[in-house]
Amino acid sequence: MRRIAFAFFLLCCNITLLGQTSQRSAIRVDIDATDPARNFFHSRLTIPASPGPLTLAYPEWVPGNHRPSGPIMNMTGLHIQGGGKEIEWQRDLKDMYAIHLQVPAGVNEITAAFDEITNTGVAGGSGPSASENVLDVNWNQVVLYPANASSDDVQVRPSIHLPDGWKFGTALNVAGQNGSVVEFEPVSLTTLVDSPLIAGSHYKQIELTAAGESPKHVMDLVGESENAINMSPSDIAAYKRLVTETGALFGARHYRQYHILLTLSDEVGGRGLEHHESSDNGPGEKGLTDPSTHLLNAGLIPHEFTHSWNGKYRRPAGLATRNYQEPMTGDLLWVYEGLTEYIGNMLTARIGLWTPKQYEENLAETAAALDYRAGRSWRSLEDTALSVQLLRLAPSGWQNWRRGLDYYPEGELIWLEVDTTIRQLTNDQRSLDDFCKAFHGGQSGPPAVVPYTFNDLVRTLNQVAPYDWAALLNDRVNAVQPHAPLGGIEQGGWRLVYNDTPNEMMKATEGVAKMANFTYSLGFWIKHEGGEFGDVIVGSPAFKAGLGPGMKLIAVNGRKWSSSGLNAALVASRNNKQPIELVVENAHRFKTYSIDYYEGPRYPHLERVPEKPDLLGNILKARSVGPM
Ligand SMILES: [Zn+2]
Repeated sequence: MRRIAFAFFLLCCNITLLGQTSQRSAIRVDIDATDPARNFFHSRLTIPASPGPLTLAYPEWVPGNHRPSGPIMNMTGLHIQGGGKEIEWQRDLKDMYAIHLQVPAGVNEITAAFDEITNTGVAGGSGPSASENVLDVNWNQVVLYPANASSDDVQVRPSIHLPDGWKFGTALNVAGQNGSVVEFEPVSLTTLVDSPLIAGSHYKQIELTAAGESPKHVMDLVGESENAINMSPSDIAAYKRLVTETGALFGARHYRQYHILLTLSDEVGGRGLEHHESSDNGPGEKGLTDPSTHLLNAGLIPHEFTHSWNGKYRRPAGLATRNYQEPMTGDLLWVYEGLTEYIGNMLTARIGLWTPKQYEENLAETAAALDYRAGRSWRSLEDTALSVQLLRLAPSGWQNWRRGLDYYPEGELIWLEVDTTIRQLTNDQRSLDDFCKAFHGGQSGPPAVVPYTFNDLVRTLNQVAPYDWAALLNDRVNAVQPHAPLGGIEQGGWRLVYNDTPNEMMKATEGVAKMANFTYSLGFWIKHEGGEFGDVIVGSPAFKAGLGPGMKLIAVNGRKWSSSGLNAALVASRNNKQPIELVVENAHRFKTYSIDYYEGPRYPHLERVPEKPDLLGNILKARSVGPM
């Protein structure tokens, strides 16, 4: 994400300035969002056109999703008109996102009106886009544009009609407001899709930049109640530090203003989606008020904010597409997401939203989970990145064998290894912070996209500290590796250990997700409700006993199952060396399984190696510099 940059202007092949206007006249995009409780957005587009054939496209490949997730099935009630008459349309036979029509003679403007159903979350992440109290407009869901045009070249004039009395937050600039109708300044389609809007009956805006400083950073909060959006003074202070810490880290900012959009709702959002000048964050209604939910989501905003540099400004060439029809290539997502995960969690500790101990517990759980991925025996990390389209919506059953979106957490381990390697090579005089400044910094200014390749990464790393980075990264990313890369933890002066003390982050996850995690002992995690096995680790004691995901636990050693009862049985078996007997329901059949395991509860932690310098401790220290 961040890196001081001046060199990359020589290295990178092209720089695209966003927001440049073309001579083409603008498409009007008028959204009626006054029916949020029923999850309809009504969209009316006025599109300049010339007589003859015209193909309109609905955005398919959604930035930040890295996959063809545009919710075309939710575009309903489509009517196209020109010269006062209905125009027939025909969906393309192969491309479901393309609509063909004939613009009649004498017509130079058409209207396309449709209703977007917003109660599926396929576009932004998960969850509906609206409720009685809150809405979250991702503009890619409500637009059509001339097929094959570059989204930078398509100009739009957006407006939105909000429910009466609602307030809103967005990085778009307001051109005028008439009651509940807000008109925005014209922007490119790229900027519109990159600038979501949240609104609600409960709204608050918090200034994060000190008076007189620029660019301006604010947090816009909407939620299901006034209590839900009531952020504590210590959180506000931490997010102010996030602004100064990113300034110290990257040395430049690539936005005119930045809005942290925060939606506190269990019905709406449930996503984190990055943009150049804003981020769309939904940690749930209790995100600020429930200690476990707060702890588990502490890294969300630091992650999404980091993406403004790592992902939006510097973007893998395969993800820097010219419009929303062009397929994306995810082979460098271990940088786009993995480095963001590393920096985001590091910043979470640097600004004090996590204590160093909480960071360590989180890292221990990440490392352990990856080390217990049985699918490491057949699938490289890069293949998980390339397969984002397949893996994003894959079920949890046998996830350890399939592998999931491992480029996030494993990217974190790899970049920790890079950071500690730089520190070892330079006697802790240089670090990944220097890479961030070189790679992600440069000149501050409005949003721009600077694509990069693997070789560009290696070149900048070599400027920071000469090393065979290509060999290291190729090995970590492309080779099939039976074990997780733990070199960064070890070079950082720590080691991964297991004992019977619960891991703080795992414990919080168990409470919030209503599950119990026996991955590192018996070899499964299980849902409280219904006793369903969420996943069973291939090769684990439970797997050897014959258990699999989807089966339901009925009884443990003759007693109706509960997570506390199962834990007690686990402790008892350590002493009495008797197998644990599980009665399990599987597709209407019942069977008893016997697990041979006598080592008791096991949870991952990091333990200091006293003879090695504590590089990890240094990494988590705030950069005590003033606001930039
Ligand atoms: Zn991300």
